[in-house]
Amino acid sequence: MTSLLAMNAYSGNNENKQSIDKDFKYTVENFADLEILRYQVPGFEELTGKQKELLYYLSEAALQGRDILFDQNGKYNLAIRRTLEAVYTHYSGNRTDQNFRNLEIYLKRVWFSNGIHHHYSTDKILPDFTKEYFTATVKSLDPNLLPLQPNQSAEELLNIIVPVMFDPDIEAKRVNQADGEDLIATSANNFYDGVTQKEAEEFYGNLKNPSDPEPVSYGLNSRLVREDGKIFEKTWKVGGLYSPAIEKIVYWLEKAQGVAENPQQEKVIASLIKYYNTGNLKDFDTYSIQWVEDLDSRIDFINGFIETYGDPLGMKGSWEALVNFKNEEATERTEIISENAQWFEDHSPVDPRFKKKEVKGVSAKVINAVMLAGDCYPATPIGINLPNANWIRAQHGSKSVTIENITDAYDKAARGNGFAREFYWSDYEIDLIEKYGFMTSNMHTDLHECLGHGSGRLLPGVDQDALKAYGATIEETRADLFGLYYIADHKMIELGLLPNDSAYKAEYYKFMTNGLMTQLVRIEPGNQIEESHMRNRQLIAKWVLEKGAADHVVELKKRNNKTFVVINDYGKLRTLFGELLAEIQRIRSEGDYEGAKEIVEKYAIKVDPVLHTEVLERYKKLNLAPYKGFVNPVYEAITDEDGKITDVVVTYEEGYAEQMLRYSKENSWLPTWNN
Ligand code: ZN
Repeated sequence: MTSLLAMNAYSGNNENKQSIDKDFKYTVENFADLEILRYQVPGFEELTGKQKELLYYLSEAALQGRDILFDQNGKYNLAIRRTLEAVYTHYSGNRTDQNFRNLEIYLKRVWFSNGIHHHYSTDKILPDFTKEYFTATVKSLDPNLLPLQPNQSAEELLNIIVPVMFDPDIEAKRVNQADGEDLIATSANNFYDGVTQKEAEEFYGNLKNPSDPEPVSYGLNSRLVREDGKIFEKTWKVGGLYSPAIEKIVYWLEKAQGVAENPQQEKVIASLIKYYNTGNLKDFDTYSIQWVEDLDSRIDFINGFIETYGDPLGMKGSWEALVNFKNEEATERTEIISENAQWFEDHSPVDPRFKKKEVKGVSAKVINAVMLAGDCYPATPIGINLPNANWIRAQHGSKSVTIENITDAYDKAARGNGFAREFYWSDYEIDLIEKYGFMTSNMHTDLHECLGHGSGRLLPGVDQDALKAYGATIEETRADLFGLYYIADHKMIELGLLPNDSAYKAEYYKFMTNGLMTQLVRIEPGNQIEESHMRNRQLIAKWVLEKGAADHVVELKKRNNKTFVVINDYGKLRTLFGELLAEIQRIRSEGDYEGAKEIVEKYAIKVDPVLHTEVLERYKKLNLAPYKGFVNPVYEAITDEDGKITDVVVTYEEGYAEQMLRYSKENSWLPTWNN
């Protein structure tokens, strides 16, 4: 390749040449611990009419599943959301009253979390308005506006939802991962009904055949229930659970199929439709394989039961959707990475027994999101690597994306907010991050997604779920370490991916400060770390802090009673990342549950209460929200006299509550009760 191409690959990072509006207002509003942003979709206007039409149908398909996630996250969520929306829309009393304002904030938080549990900590969000106020307000409404069951009174509705909302002990946590407890009985999600953790593990243990080289993703698309003493699965499919919403998804997918860009993409959409109809997990695998092999399409999407973070046993897929198209200019950078995937695998510091002899089809691209939905909305990932089934990854490869219009929005919204001044040690680190921070954090995401998750292999006979509740943390740790190790490799400069040998230090400094200190702003005082990405970051940061202590590789230093991360030796830090990567890969490859448990429990979970309090106080003074999420653009289809779509126009004006209420009105298909 020419160096010009390579230069573009990184200089294209910061200023996208596509149609970006420099005066775009990224921030929509703030409430509670949240900041709502919007994102631009640069390049949308330049797509062909047919591509826009396809994106429009896929976006509609994405929007139809919202209620599914609410119900998966807790069986009272739809009843509570609809009751709150009725109050918010129709209440004729005093709307400036503090109770009403707090109810509005609570509703906004329920929308954000797709339920009554915090989207990140999964703790129940307790209302800041009184039970009495809520009861009186609901009773003041015309009962026809409330989500009542046949013959149910407002009183009876309240008898059900008020304790769920207000009693801290009922449905306290959506996903409980505390070692030693019954993780199903103590988790409020709606993935299991009437079964214990032991029964669920037995049920799936009996289904699994350890010698099956191509196992389906057991349990991924169903609720496990006990009825009349029998334990069985109720599948989410057309004609099964969630059918009313899935039928609408299928309706729009069929339209999308009609305007697919090419035969392969048409096949992908057809397979997904088939799977939604049959609920057969073999059909899901067929779809996943075709999806991985669809590499030529400009437009791509995810729509289905995918990630399993919402299930403490890591089996049930939360519904999500993401519609996107390739950012061709920025994709040059990830293409360089994936073309060299074998080199990275061969040179990684892990035991050769755990390496892939042949890295298959690690395809990576940079995309712009067009529509976020389900578990990708409003809080959204910045990178995705799928499919999750290990045998498909091994035989057919995986697709990995970095969502650049989202990372761009984060970056732009955070400029000049005072964070760097408060938490970074000196001008040296601040300048480094100002110059290279955006570039290297995108690069780390690329490496994490397209090489990290795709690297390494399990030893023959090792169950991919062997690490159980620690599996997700170990897997994220592995991917992050792979990225950290290689972002400092001279190969990055050789390949033209980074401009010089010090750019990587920006990511190292950011990563260590985040992992040791600043990510703690997301934790409530007194709590421990639970989310697997946060656990993985602290695991890495604390481990290298400890192992490098004798050589002062990284230190926590005090200045004016404030704690700072200081990195004294970036080279040794990289060596430590490599050592830890070797150990984490060993744990994963051997399925060493005890090893996983020990390292996660020791480094990833516990919070130093003194440092935590300090970080919270410093952060609070800056008035920043620890969590961010997005409203979607609005797409309007322009049709001719025959109703045929001739163009699609994108606008960015819709507000947060406005969008949520519109989705609840236009895209809400599940009944309130008995889903
Ligand atoms: Zn990951």
